[in-house]
Amino acid sequence: MSVEQAPVQRADFDQVMVPNYAPAAFIPVRGAGSRVWDQSGRELIDFAGGIAVNVLGHAHPALVGALTEQANKLWHVSNVFTNEPALRLAHKLIDATFAERVFFCNSGAEANEAAFKLARRVAFDRFGSEKYEIIAALNSFHGRTLFTVNVGGQSKYSDGFGPKITGITHVPFNDLDALKAAVSDKTCAVVLEPIQGEGGVLPAELAYLQGARDLCDANNALLVFDEVQTGMGRSGELFAYQHYGVVPDILTSAKSLGGGFPIAAMLTREDLAKHLVVGTHGTTYGGNPLACAVAEAVIDVINTPQVLAGVKAKHDLFVARLEQIGQQYGIFTEVRGLGLLLGCVLSDAWKGKAKDIFNAAEREGLMILQAGPDVVRFAPSLVVEDADIQEGLDRFERAVKKLTQA
Ligand SMILES: *Cc1c(COP(=O)(O)O)cnc(C)c1O
Repeated sequence: MSVEQAPVQRADFDQVMVPNYAPAAFIPVRGAGSRVWDQSGRELIDFAGGIAVNVLGHAHPALVGALTEQANKLWHVSNVFTNEPALRLAHKLIDATFAERVFFCNSGAEANEAAFKLARRVAFDRFGSEKYEIIAALNSFHGRTLFTVNVGGQSKYSDGFGPKITGITHVPFNDLDALKAAVSDKTCAVVLEPIQGEGGVLPAELAYLQGARDLCDANNALLVFDEVQTGMGRSGELFAYQHYGVVPDILTSAKSLGGGFPIAAMLTREDLAKHLVVGTHGTTYGGNPLACAVAEAVIDVINTPQVLAGVKAKHDLFVARLEQIGQQYGIFTEVRGLGLLLGCVLSDAWKGKAKDIFNAAEREGLMILQAGPDVVRFAPSLVVEDADIQEGLDRFERAVKKLTQA
């Protein structure tokens, strides 16, 4: 006999939750592929993907299978013991990338926290206590812990929480001269998103990443790529650095890595990893067998020529239609991004109104995202059906049409 549960609704949120989020008016209760249903049974198409997380949509059979199989075996043992799914997942990430060593944790912020601590520790061990400066980009986003909001280039996230973490410099993104002027022998790391996600789906220029690589090499600094949003197939390559052909020293992954199950990873080389000796860093849940079993299934499905080629083909479907909608209704100046991380830059007349477009899309049964007030963002499942793309973009066009004719 099942225990009857008290009904809850959106209004409960304001009674029981800390008010740091402003969730939509409906509550999703079920998903399958790229469709989601709310409490009232209304169906929506999901082009938001849980903010670039649900990389294989909802309830993908391979992920449900991996989760339930592992759930019946072993959930958690702590890092006092290692476990089979973690070791298998580490092998797979290493085989597929530049990396030789992996550290698992639970969120993007934690992976970046580990990356920044590693970069400072390597510099400390090799060059002494004066080499600790981290250079990051304005408008970048690296997570919400105190260290990561300080490295992130948006002061609205770091102001008002007491003293800032020092030794962090911000430079304009895609401006190589500014980076050159900022890097010195005190620099321990340059931290970049290959595509600024939260900052507006803004891709790095190839020459910028190449220049950053050269500056790091010339100054004994490490190049850190935050691929929390761009990684795991999102760009059409497993990681965006592979698209650019510029190899970092440290890479962080989260979001899509678990396809909806919380897991993150920091990838690096052995000569750097060896500086995190026993006791220097850790986390209770990191590399938990349940999370690693799911991530292993994610990488097995995604890291195949069919799925990665599919991302590029679906990219073309999205871009062609979004450009047409943008022109027809005069709302976008540009559709940018790689693979299935797309940003539509609003025209002057629509600047600041991404939230209105988000709301209009929701009224038509479509979940999308913003990336700041001026960019409408799409981060759908990498295996979204072409028919769902068609239907979702029909809904999007209806939303835009009603908004522009209102
Ligand atoms: C989402 C995001 C993070 C933070 O990840 P959390 O899992 O929310 O901690 C860090 N960096 C980038 C680029 C992100 O998009």
